[in-house]
Amino acid sequence: MVGVEVLTAVRSEGIQRRVAGGLLARGARVGDRVVVPPPDPQAGLASGTVLSAVVGALRVGVVPVVLHGGLLDEERAPLVADADPHLDLSAAALAALAQDGPPVDLAPDPLARPLHYTSGTTGRAKGVWSGVLAAPAAAALRAEEADLWAFAADDVHLVCSPLYHSAPIRFAAGTLLVGGTVVLPERFDAATVAGVLADGTTETGPATSTFCVPAHLQRLFALGGAVRAPRLRLLAHAGAPCPLPLKERTLAALPAGSVWEFYGSTEGQITACGPDEAAAHPGSVGRARPGRRLRVDDDGTIWCAVPPHARFSYWRDPGRTARAWRADRFTVGDLGRLDADGYLWLDGRRDDLVITGGVNVYPLEVEQALEGRPGIEEVAVFGVDDERWGQRVCLAYTGTAAPDEVLAHAAAHLAPHKRPKEAHRVDALPLTPTGKLRRLDLPGVLGLA
Ligand code: ATP
Repeated sequence: MVGVEVLTAVRSEGIQRRVAGGLLARGARVGDRVVVPPPDPQAGLASGTVLSAVVGALRVGVVPVVLHGGLLDEERAPLVADADPHLDLSAAALAALAQDGPPVDLAPDPLARPLHYTSGTTGRAKGVWSGVLAAPAAAALRAEEADLWAFAADDVHLVCSPLYHSAPIRFAAGTLLVGGTVVLPERFDAATVAGVLADGTTETGPATSTFCVPAHLQRLFALGGAVRAPRLRLLAHAGAPCPLPLKERTLAALPAGSVWEFYGSTEGQITACGPDEAAAHPGSVGRARPGRRLRVDDDGTIWCAVPPHARFSYWRDPGRTARAWRADRFTVGDLGRLDADGYLWLDGRRDDLVITGGVNVYPLEVEQALEGRPGIEEVAVFGVDDERWGQRVCLAYTGTAAPDEVLAHAAAHLAPHKRPKEAHRVDALPLTPTGKLRRLDLPGVLGLA
């Protein structure tokens, strides 16, 4: 078990007002960037203060730059230089701002959007920014988030993922802005999360909502025993494919109506898929959420039209921005299929495609064909350079099955060109701190690069 912090809306509002006042007093103006450090208990900087600082900055139009925790100096420095901030706050400086800043009133607008750097799963981390929203757009954004997830003042929202990622901040900030309470474990720890879902803290009672990635669900179920979540009304998951057996288990284990999935990225939340839809359309990530429209090109690229307040650009990268947008539609390079009712199935990312003997193999399809078969838990498929085929399909997996058995399953369920040439058993798949598969690292991790 790890320590758990409770952040009420009232306490957070106090910190938000002091941080906002402190930032303005230090000369930050609308549109200026401020680098917010990750939580650092040793320097007296709690997670709740970081979250509140982000929200406080947003509410005076100042743009928080929330960098990944644990970055080495040489990784952090280029991102800070790219963000070109007015202030680069140390943990101690932020903790002091939260204590001593002159509190200011917070108006509903201007509402800044954070500058987020993507995790760089597919290459260099990209800054993604949606600008500073003036009155009508700010109200539209807040209303849309509140409507979709029905944030409420009696919500107790459990934070499972680190706070530098866009989705955890959206859920936690959305809860605080309607008067709800946020529960922040020191870090993801399955037993602690299970405890907060079951009993909560003495101050809050059990959690009512949470956002997580499928890897968190895996770890929760790996504890064994039943998952108790007596007050849970919303568990939203996204960020990575959820294997069907895991989805079914989650739907069965958690309260009826609570399990939602969405498909999105740092660039925006695109679909939503309720529990009934998930049961009726297995494997789908749902339909376009209100105000969004989906289209899939002949080559499988997913394009999404969004309202003006949800447009974004890649920070100081007009070329990349232009490539991502066609009129009011953008793509992040994901591939998929739509059915006649508008339900979307993902086929993976264009950059993950394995091209073997000139034929495209979608890693996700191979993974889904194997995950959950006897002795096979998680599967990751990737390409390795190959003289004969250009690339060959390889696979890493967790579970008790022997590599030959995994290859035999593949032979029984997949066309020859999709079958992995090699299967490597690993204790755990390499994940980012946000629980996403580091697919491009696999050849190196396995000594195949
Ligand atoms: P980078 O863009 O730098 O490579 P990243 O992949 O970590 O980093 P994110 O914005 O965190 O960037 O991840 C978004 C991606 O996660 C989506 O483009 C999609 O490929 C995948 N994803 C999101 N939601 C789902 C989902 N519900 N099911 C499957 N995959 C998803």
